[in-house]
Amino acid sequence: MIKIDIDMLVAIYLMISIVILFLWILFEWRNGFLSGPGVDGSLWECPTCFYVYVDSCSEGISKCPRCQTLHRKHEKV
Ligand SMILES: [Zn+2]
Repeated sequence: MIKIDIDMLVAIYLMISIVILFLWILFEWRNGFLSGPGVDGSLWECPTCFYVYVDSCSEGISKCPRCQTLHRKHEKV
């Protein structure tokens, strides 16, 4: 059997915990979790009725679900 001090055991346990925490933060950061909720690109505001909604399918032109108006991104009336 391998003889290990309790100090060494605690140190190894802490090192493994820190590595897991670091990897977790790294993966969350890569997925964009820490840089925002991720709906900024799909958040639309209707220039006609000022209704704010999420449309992740549309890129350039979106249809307002309230007044059914087609409009471009950040379009001013
Ligand atoms: Zn609208």
